[in-house]
Amino acid sequence: MADEKARILAVDDDPRLLESLRELLSLEGYEVSIVDDSRKAIQQLQTGRFDILLLDMKMPHVDGRQIMQFVADKQIPTDVIVISGESSFNSAVDAMRLGAHDFLTKPYVPNQLLKRLENTLAHRRLRKHNLEIKNRLEHSEKLYRFLVNTSPDFIYILDQKGNFVFVNKRVQDLLGHAPKELLGKHYTTIVCDQDREDAKYAFNERRTGERATRNFELRLCTKGLENIKKSFSHRILNIELYATGLYTGKENDRHRLGTYGVARDVSEKKRAEAVIHYQAYHDLLTGLPNRALFKDRLKMSLAQANRNEYKTAIMFIDLDRFKIVNDTLGHKVGDQLLRAAARSMQRCLRAEDTLARLGGDEFVVLLSKIKHPQDAAQVARKILDALEQPFILDERELLISASIGISVYPDDADEEEELIKNADVAMYSVKHDGKGNFAFYVKSMDANFSEHLEFEMRLRRALTEDEFCIYYQPQFDLYNQRIIGMEALLRWRHPELGLVLPGAFIPLAEEIGLITQITRWLIRAAAKQIHQWLEAGIAPPHLAINFSALDLKHSDIVEQILHPLREQKVPPERFAVEITENVIVKDIDSVAQRLSSLAHHGIDIAIDDFGTGYSSLGYLHQLPIKTLKIDRSFVFDIHPERKERTVIDAIIAMGQSLDLKLVAEGVETQAQRDWLLQRNCRVMQGNLFSAPLPAEEAGKLLALTRNDSPEQTPILSK
Ligand code: C2E
Ligand code: CA
Ligand code: CA
Repeated sequence: MADEKARILAVDDDPRLLESLRELLSLEGYEVSIVDDSRKAIQQLQTGRFDILLLDMKMPHVDGRQIMQFVADKQIPTDVIVISGESSFNSAVDAMRLGAHDFLTKPYVPNQLLKRLENTLAHRRLRKHNLEIKNRLEHSEKLYRFLVNTSPDFIYILDQKGNFVFVNKRVQDLLGHAPKELLGKHYTTIVCDQDREDAKYAFNERRTGERATRNFELRLCTKGLENIKKSFSHRILNIELYATGLYTGKENDRHRLGTYGVARDVSEKKRAEAVIHYQAYHDLLTGLPNRALFKDRLKMSLAQANRNEYKTAIMFIDLDRFKIVNDTLGHKVGDQLLRAAARSMQRCLRAEDTLARLGGDEFVVLLSKIKHPQDAAQVARKILDALEQPFILDERELLISASIGISVYPDDADEEEELIKNADVAMYSVKHDGKGNFAFYVKSMDANFSEHLEFEMRLRRALTEDEFCIYYQPQFDLYNQRIIGMEALLRWRHPELGLVLPGAFIPLAEEIGLITQITRWLIRAAAKQIHQWLEAGIAPPHLAINFSALDLKHSDIVEQILHPLREQKVPPERFAVEITENVIVKDIDSVAQRLSSLAHHGIDIAIDDFGTGYSSLGYLHQLPIKTLKIDRSFVFDIHPERKERTVIDAIIAMGQSLDLKLVAEGVETQAQRDWLLQRNCRVMQGNLFSAPLPAEEAGKLLALTRNDSPEQTPILSK
């Protein structure tokens, strides 16, 4: 308003007066409009914004009173100065009552008018300024209220006595109290009993600045529990408190008003801390204690056992062949199995016992306060029984077993690590002796155990030390007296034990995850060997390698085979793979796809050890299988004098009806040979013809029985 010209409307029915007014006021720098008709005046007032209306009261048509009434009714923001011909006190009062800001009587001295005008304008400016301040205050108060009430924190003010004089709305969500309920109440009504003493100097803090309360952890009690979902415990709200004394006046003359405080809900943080703590001491898959917690409990239990002359037993439990299940059926099923196994073991234990998972398929049990080691044997038997019940997972029935080693305190060791290790040693001894059982630790097991560790360590190094080699065993077609294939059989030249057969190390290689690398090596070595024999012109029609259940799990297995063959320029038709039924039944879809891909490239697929596995014949149609290998146990069972039909009769009949090539394995005697030949089973493999041979000797045999060789092999004509 200071910069703008003040706008003035002058209304009078005397045009001369108006003109002189205009002149006077314009000279003073005002923007003046004049109207000599009161009806027009009303129009002007409606449209223009005037700071001041100079109004003559006495006019024809509509008089000044009516105009003022109009200004009042319409709340037109114009200040009115009445200029009246009447100088009576009454008319002045009348005008003021109608809302006039000032009153002048005609005739007036111009200076007087100007002064009154200036006065009114100054008033006007002041009012406007005050209004602005008031608006700003209202606004900032609103903002402050908004901030306080929407704060995620509980904000309060206490009076000197510690009673609430203000709480924000947030208290309702956090503690379940309506703000009104708390006003006037002492703060201790919401502090948990256990924390009252601590709260004394924090919640109603007197200090200010640096020394005031900050980050102070307290527990508040909640009310209306059902509404409070967020808090960690349903009755308790964990908060972090910031509080400071409230004072008025200056430093020397301070007067304490009370306390201002902000309480932050830290339940989430507490929960996270609890979770982290839990994770540090538990196995997340099964929810069981982990090694760290187990050792804590073991330590405590040993101390107690000492005082009370009890015994404590430790069981080391390893699920037999778990790795195979995990690798063939997938981690999801593996995890489910671990959880299910954990549950069923837990059911065999007392509440005071601890079952923990050490990792993988290894569990430990702490049996505290036992009187006699035989108590532990009983529990072990119970656990073995429980684990041998079939587990139904993913609509599959899984059968597992476990090996359990037991060590007893104080008999076997007097220190935790040692006890766990001895139970482990006993467990290995059970594994070694055929699994699915339990054993107590005895000192003599140590030697076996270190032997086992040594063996395992050596096996891990066997590939890099180049200790594997392949023996080759021919398959003969008795009709045309020719070698129609070779089977590659893995051998390990152990530096101390000599030639180790696959039965002694392949299960271990599978268990410790070495088999994949071994198979890769084998494929490359076999491909090289065919290449050499092809060069020499003595290659057998095909060379078969054995696949472990785990090999077909790898999605790149097809390329793992084709690549070395390409490198060695070996046609895939020269290659065959033998797989056992178990491999197929476990994961038929992905296996079928990979096998089809192999078959598509011309690689022959044979079912090994046929008749010993699930023998579900359904899959035979679904898979690109050309060959069935009759397991040597059936060949071994052949008794020519026996008249009734046996399993092997059934296998042969089935193979022939499905038009599959049959290979009888483990043929050792002339009688077996003849019996098989009688039933048109013409392809045989076994020591009768040739044991598995090192590459060089196998090569000699191949040269001797070469397809174009006119001679017959001496072995065949035996
Ligand atoms: P398999 O596939 O059934 O192999 C035939 C086994 O029978 C071989 O045992 C062979 O030496 C043996 N055999 C051959 N002729 C006769 C006979 O007249 N009488 C008797 N009693 N046995 C005979 P080997 O070489 O000890 O292999 C055992 C098993 O190890 C194989 O059984 C096969 O399942 C597995 N295996 C061998 N090499 C590999 C390999 O490279 N990879 C994988 N994953 N497994 C292999
Ligand atoms: Ca085989
Ligand atoms: Ca076999």
